[in-house]
Amino acid sequence: MKGKVYLVGAGPGDYKLLTLKGLECIKKADVIVYDRLANKNYLKEAKENCEFIYVGKASSNHTLPQDDINRVIADKAKEGKIVTRLKGGDPYVFGRGGEEGELLKEEGIEFEVVPGITSAIGGLCYAGIPITHRDYASSFHVITGHLRDDDKENPEINWNALANTNGTLVFLMGVANLQKISSNLIKEGQSKDTPVALISWATRSNQRVITSTLENVYETAIKEGVKPPTLIAVGDVVGLRDKLNFFETKPLFGKNVIVTRSRTQSSSLVSKISDLGGNPIEVPTIKIEKIENNIALENEIKNIKDYTYLILTSKNAVDIFFDKLDEMDLDSRVLANLKVCAIGSATAKEIKNRGIKADVVPEKFVAEYLFEELKDVLKDSDKVLIPRAKNARDFLVDKISEICEVKEVHIYETVLDDSKKDEVLDILNSGEADYITFASSSTVTNFVDIIGKENIDKLNELKVISIGPITTQTAKDLNISIYKEADIATIDGMIDCIMNDK
Ligand code: SAH
Repeated sequence: MKGKVYLVGAGPGDYKLLTLKGLECIKKADVIVYDRLANKNYLKEAKENCEFIYVGKASSNHTLPQDDINRVIADKAKEGKIVTRLKGGDPYVFGRGGEEGELLKEEGIEFEVVPGITSAIGGLCYAGIPITHRDYASSFHVITGHLRDDDKENPEINWNALANTNGTLVFLMGVANLQKISSNLIKEGQSKDTPVALISWATRSNQRVITSTLENVYETAIKEGVKPPTLIAVGDVVGLRDKLNFFETKPLFGKNVIVTRSRTQSSSLVSKISDLGGNPIEVPTIKIEKIENNIALENEIKNIKDYTYLILTSKNAVDIFFDKLDEMDLDSRVLANLKVCAIGSATAKEIKNRGIKADVVPEKFVAEYLFEELKDVLKDSDKVLIPRAKNARDFLVDKISEICEVKEVHIYETVLDDSKKDEVLDILNSGEADYITFASSSTVTNFVDIIGKENIDKLNELKVISIGPITTQTAKDLNISIYKEADIATIDGMIDCIMNDK
């Protein structure tokens, strides 16, 4: 087997600013070599046993020298592996991607480059600054601010030309040399009133933008404690920021929200938070373990004609049930004669993806609401099938059995994912989070099982959001005080709580 290397631009940081091709390379990699500026959440898209190698650079504090990085990449590829080298922004914009490519070529290793959105353009965009504009800038220059110490005059940079382009100048890696940069430009004739923006952690939820003028920018940066990674944008386009800023004005901008749901279920909450400008910090508490070789389920599917109702209570249940139909060489037509009920709109949507419109969807994502709707329509001649989690609450089955026959089949189990204790405690201790969300009772108990009862008080520092009354009660029983409970017991209900919290 021949190895191959993909040099992939990971974009400026916003999770969704990655190309489809880049994502594909992450998914098929055997080894991912990544650095500080590539969003770490991409690693979650990797194959189960993918190897991760961090070669991060925090400015001058290199974790691995470039030669060693090149060596690692080449060696892994020679072992026959698919290596994805994730680099912040675009691999060929000051990313030393060219050097990595040259070495691979020399060693006869196949490689491909996937361009990314460079921070020089995308970062300015998220700061509300268009890099060109008919009225203000007809060109732009992207310049390294990593000036060589050995040469005071920096002949590799033509300051005179830069100062007189009338285009937008964007310096990368320039924070440490800000004073030199601004004074060189002024010396070569650029107006000292030229607007300058310092954009740190661009496109991330911790993006910070400070504006100044060429004359004052150095002092401003010192006063504000500006640190890398920061873009220095110089030019009149900076003035458009007030009008064109769309990112920092998003409703959840700057809010850091811990999301405690099983990995398979958390994605909609996570993506909604980031779409609204917030920073979701995913903490998996439970994982779903499907019950394998489920003869009991197969038997009930064989007898499906005896049933009049099918109740699906979660996305997991929908997936497992329909996958089983498929495995048995059947499809949704076997359900033609039954009524299908979904708990919650998300579950209903999953059922719809499988080609069926749910007949009954309670307004709230709780068993009690489903029963309220069912109790008036169920007759004693009905027969109800509920394929669901092993550790689900008894309520629904107990209540329905008072009316008619009901059969519960266990199809999965939610088990604790306690591999993450240290990671979770680090997040709680770091103080970076503002909110924590609990979308079910079991996520509360599981979360506490993971961090340990002795650490519950760490939650007092956070605003705790609960999806509904039962989750709230479970939290209260554990001495966790709830900051807000969703009005509607859905993911959107929880998001509303955070959005309305000023
Ligand atoms: N290949 C990258 C640049 C690598 S050089 C790209 O195309 O974006 C590293 C420098 O890029 C940092 O010092 C900083 O100046 C800039 N940079 C990269 N990502 C950034 C971000 N999200 N916010 C601010 N600056 C960033």
